[in-house]
Amino acid sequence: MVLEAARRPLEERELERPRARSGQVLIEVKACAVCRTDLHVVDGELTQPKLPLVPGHEVVGVVAETGKDVTRFKPGDRVGVPWLGWTCGECPYCLANRENLCDRALFTGYTLDGGYAEWIVADARFCFPIPASYAEAEAAPLLCAGLIGYRSFTKTAGGKRLGIYGFGAAAHIITQVARYEGRQVFAFTREGDVKGQEFAKSIGAIWAGGSNQLPPEPLDAAILFAPVGQLVPQALKAVRKGGVVVCGGIHMSDIPSFPYELLWGERSVCSVANLTRRDGEEFFALAPRIPVKVNVEKFPLAQANEALASLRAGRIKGVAVLIPETTNGH
Ligand SMILES: [Zn+2]
Ligand SMILES: [Zn+2]
Repeated sequence: MVLEAARRPLEERELERPRARSGQVLIEVKACAVCRTDLHVVDGELTQPKLPLVPGHEVVGVVAETGKDVTRFKPGDRVGVPWLGWTCGECPYCLANRENLCDRALFTGYTLDGGYAEWIVADARFCFPIPASYAEAEAAPLLCAGLIGYRSFTKTAGGKRLGIYGFGAAAHIITQVARYEGRQVFAFTREGDVKGQEFAKSIGAIWAGGSNQLPPEPLDAAILFAPVGQLVPQALKAVRKGGVVVCGGIHMSDIPSFPYELLWGERSVCSVANLTRRDGEEFFALAPRIPVKVNVEKFPLAQANEALASLRAGRIKGVAVLIPETTNGH
């Protein structure tokens, strides 16, 4: 339905324009990045979607209308809508500044309609202003690959030698953050993915190899962006005593059993769930200073399925971004 809508005349689409209710902003979508999580949603690996559902949780657009009680934004402002769409504000997690774990949280493009669309309504409190230095398509991937990548990065406890497994959207953003902070990045790709390894080196990894390889020196920490459980023992082998392995994805295949020896020596494994608004504020202050550059491959909104297929096949180096046809490629 959404894809057909993109081809209809403007007047018809205007009639279908949703309204911003109290506390919400209505946003004209300019760009929506395609995330691996969208594949997990479309494939049913995340089992609680709202149905029918508009996917997409890395949305950048322009505020068209504000609902009652919205003072943060005004029409014409450029805003981003991230995965975290709403939290209750009163559960033990919310009260402990861990809203990413909220018991009743709602998620954009999963339990709320997302940004594979021309319009989106969002709770204004969960949107972020987009830094002026970013074009819309380049800003979109910052909303998840950037934010959740950044949260994963903050869990690596300052380790100097950082391994990154799975070199896609989040990895190419976080490599730039890591370098800015004086870390060394070791990139791990699918075995034999020479192009991926070259790409990783071109944006600053000091070493790149297959995920079956060990790095030339032990790592202080590793982040797994690839949703492959087998990589957990592999990464544990690569980190030194006291090192941490951070699982940055929302879904992962089963982790195979492994000898306790790999965990011994106070190594640890943790996951990263969602994001907090504070992560977003920190990251959007940091990204323009570095400045984080994002490699995007644009697809018209009507080709959302092709974009998903390219991501699934590992053909995207950087990030796929959907552009509604009304936007004229901005
Ligand atoms: Zn995502
Ligand atoms: Zn809560």
